[in-house]
Parts: sequence; structure tokens; C-alpha cells
Amino acid sequence: MSKNTVLIVGSIALDSVETSLEKKSNLVGGSTTYSLISASRYSDVAVVGVIGDDFPEEGHSLYKSYAKHVEDLKIVQGKTFRWGGKYHANWNDRDTLFTDLGVFSDFNPILSESNKNRSHILLANIHPALQFSIISQNRNPNALIVIDTMNLWIETTLPDLMKVLSSSNILLINESESTLLTNQKNLVDAASALLDLGPDVVVIKKGSNGAELFSNNEHLEIGAFPVKDVIDPTGAGDAFAGAFTACLSSGESNRSALLHASAMASICIESFGTERLQNASNDEISKRIELLSKTFKS
Ligand code: AMP
Repeated sequence: MSKNTVLIVGSIALDSVETSLEKKSNLVGGSTTYSLISASRYSDVAVVGVIGDDFPEEGHSLYKSYAKHVEDLKIVQGKTFRWGGKYHANWNDRDTLFTDLGVFSDFNPILSESNKNRSHILLANIHPALQFSIISQNRNPNALIVIDTMNLWIETTLPDLMKVLSSSNILLINESESTLLTNQKNLVDAASALLDLGPDVVVIKKGSNGAELFSNNEHLEIGAFPVKDVIDPTGAGDAFAGAFTACLSSGESNRSALLHASAMASICIESFGTERLQNASNDEISKRIELLSKTFKS
């Protein structure tokens, strides 16, 4: 049976990450990379993005292994997007040290015909104008559009983000971002304000406290898998987004998508970069899902 295809647009990056214990540079990362690896366990993936001629061989082979459709992945002269981040000792707070857009600064994708007709689209974290350009090129009126964002876009490009939200079906957002966007501290109030902005479903991620899904007729509350040794939280939200969208594309329920997404996010933070996402066994993931299924509150 052929799998469904999720179209992912987001960043493809070389990351420099500092935690209180260690420092690593030039890790192959970006929101697309983390989402892709996670999603590919459940569906085929088509990627839209751009890399520079400095992208390492390791990155090329990663994209070769995990992405089924790469016709809209462009390689151009110049520098790959670079991001640097530093985590506080509590793991929850992170400072951005630098963002060098490189080849992303004038990336203006024109989608190939097949990518204009995908059933599931994940607009992973990237400038909302780029997210909107994908929405405008989509020709499938029934496409399910999932969006992720970050505090930077809420603070600097709110009108663009509002346009994306009004055309989206599902919003994935952190608890602190939900407060920033709605001015509501209470989760239920924030979710209700977010549902008014366009999406039919809002998932608020609460880090080590799990996640809650809200729609007009559903409220699900899941806990988090207790990770013993957090190594690097980078990409957890993207791994969550990839698995969530890909599960829905294979016909799973919101509940099941939440379970798989939470499991993949917990795996992601156990290594720097994408190492654990790539090498986690199906058995480990199943065990996490079994444990997580007992944490539902409704
Ligand atoms: P997360 O930890 O889920 O927020 O995702 C971190 C990933 O997002 C890193 O791999 C970064 O390369 C990428 N990232 C960070 N800032 C940005 C940005 N402004 N635009 C696009 N991607 C970003």
C-alpha cells in the first residue's frame, strides 16, 4: 500500500548549540530536518527548502534517506541558514545567539505540480510570509494545513502570522507563545482565543508537563514521557509536529497523533542534533507510547 505524503516547509540549518554541559557546532538541523525524520516513520515526506553549497555530505545523505520527494529542495550558491542557541540550566529557557539567514534570505519557492496537490501540509517554523506563500500555491481545497511558529514571529511579523493562522486547520504552539500571542495566561482561555484566529484544532505544548489539544468538541490532555537525561532540547517541537501531522495523514485520530508526537519529542531531546531521532528503535517508541497512553486525563 502506498503511504500518504506530507509536504513540509521550514528551515534547513546548521545549528550551534550550547547547553550547561556541552557545546556543539554545525549540527545538521532546522525545523524541516527534525520534522522530516520524525514524520518519515509514519508517512512519505516531500520537502520544500534551500541549502547552500556548504551543506555537508552528512546532511545530503540524511535528506536522501528520509525525504521521498526532493524536487522542491534547492541547492544554491551561498551559505546554508545558521542558527545558534544557548539553553539555560532549567532546559526550558533558551537564548538565540545568532540567526544567519544565508540562502534563505531570498528563497522564493515555486512549488512543483505534485507539491501543489498534497493532502497534508506542515508549515514548520519559518518566516510566516514563506509559510503563506506555500498556502497560496496549494491547489488542494481539502488539504489539512498544520502550522508551527515561534516567539520571534509573534513579536516581529504578527500581521503575516495572522494571515497564516486564518488559513490553517491546526496550530501547534508552546505554552509561553500562546500567552504571548493571546495575552491569556490561563490555558483554556488562550486556546479559545487561538481557535478564534482560524484553526479548528489547537495543541498547546507544555514541555515536561505534556500537551493539551483543544477543538470545539474535543479536549485531550497528555503527560510527558519522563526523560532521564536531557542532552539537547533543540528540535523537540519539530519532531512533535512531524509525527503529529504524519500520523493524521495515515488516518490516525488526534489522540493517537498526540501519543506518537509526544513519544518522538521525548526521543529527540536525548542527543545533540538528530542522532536519537535517527537511531531509536520501533520497540523503544512503542514502549514510550504504551506509557504515555496511561497519562491521558480525558
Ligand atoms: P525547536 O527546538 O523545536 O524550536 O526547533 C529548533 C530548530 O529551529 C533549530 O534546528 C533551528 O535551526 C530552527 N530555528 C531556530 N530559529 C529559527 C528561525 N528564526 N527560523 C527558522 N528556523 C529556526
